[in-house]
Amino acid sequence: MRFSEIVGQERAITTLRETLRSNRIPNAYLFEGPWGVGKTRTALALAAGLVCRTESDEACGVCDACVRVGRFQHPDVRFLFPVMTDADDPESIGETLTEVANDPHYVFTYEKASSIRIAITRDILKELAFRPYEGRRRVIVMRDADRMREDQYSAMLKSLEEPGASTLWVLTTARPNRLPPTIRSRCLKVRFRALTEAEISSYLVDRVGLGAASARLLAALASGSLARALTLRGENVAALRDDALRALGAANSGEPSRILAAASEAASWTNRERMRRTLEFQFLLLRDLLRLKHGAPEEALVNRDRLADLRKVAGTIEVREIRRRAALLDEVVRAIDSNVTPETAFFSAYARWGKALAPSTSERAEAWPAWGDARLDV
Ligand SMILES: [Zn+2]
Repeated sequence: MRFSEIVGQERAITTLRETLRSNRIPNAYLFEGPWGVGKTRTALALAAGLVCRTESDEACGVCDACVRVGRFQHPDVRFLFPVMTDADDPESIGETLTEVANDPHYVFTYEKASSIRIAITRDILKELAFRPYEGRRRVIVMRDADRMREDQYSAMLKSLEEPGASTLWVLTTARPNRLPPTIRSRCLKVRFRALTEAEISSYLVDRVGLGAASARLLAALASGSLARALTLRGENVAALRDDALRALGAANSGEPSRILAAASEAASWTNRERMRRTLEFQFLLLRDLLRLKHGAPEEALVNRDRLADLRKVAGTIEVREIRRRAALLDEVVRAIDSNVTPETAFFSAYARWGKALAPSTSERAEAWPAWGDARLDV
């Protein structure tokens, strides 16, 4: 767990390296930023840096201290994360830690009601009475620190305020407003940003071993979160994308029977996530068209394996029309969220998609290819 392994986040990491170099360590950090952008990994890399034998601005990754941090076996580094209070016993927490240690692409998921266990914070607060075992400092990394009970925060406060404390708290959160102001005001804030599609895509290619086209599709769906891209990687995104584009081909034909068939197919997916995914791909297609209209380079296109088709459409469709179609997709998203029958929602949008059934928009008909008629080669 080293800074050099973190994707993006140059600003945060520069600050933290400087902290290690100067050895002016605060009592507490609050790592704020969206879900799945590297806050926890960075916190653990900082912890390793603090106990590493080399005492430099980056954990060496190979000394016995670094190795033990990586296995969650270092006595001066504790890692807390939310669990289901009743269901998770110490053993299952240990199993999770083993998985995190062994899988560099591990993604934390937990139930809505999960929280940092009070018994564990109580034990840790007791430990604080003693000096660190080995390192310069004791480090407590607390992931999603907004998931705690009010009385746990008050118990923590004392430690955060103690001058010359030998403990560094590193709290991470994607929801800083849920932390009490008393806690927030005592932490040094470090901001983490959403990752770019290019950063996520290269990570998926270089470190996960995905093909370029799949990586690009996942990165586009990830909304800046590497964790989201990693969660979705089990899905066959290329096939999902093809299905989504094929449905638009049917919509664009203006033939009622094809439109009905496409709407029924979209609605046959019992899983709403899957319906949303279809819509996301359709939005991404429109985004590609808009980008082409505005002269964006090829690299900015998600569906650039279909570049010839994209160019053909972009050459004839108006920006206004692209926006009108995006609004139609928006209607479907809202309809699905408000429990309108999905088939009705899709049919209504697809029926107004093409020119044939929307004579009021009087632009010339564009050259809309039969998207996805052939399987993509990804
Ligand atoms: Zn080391």
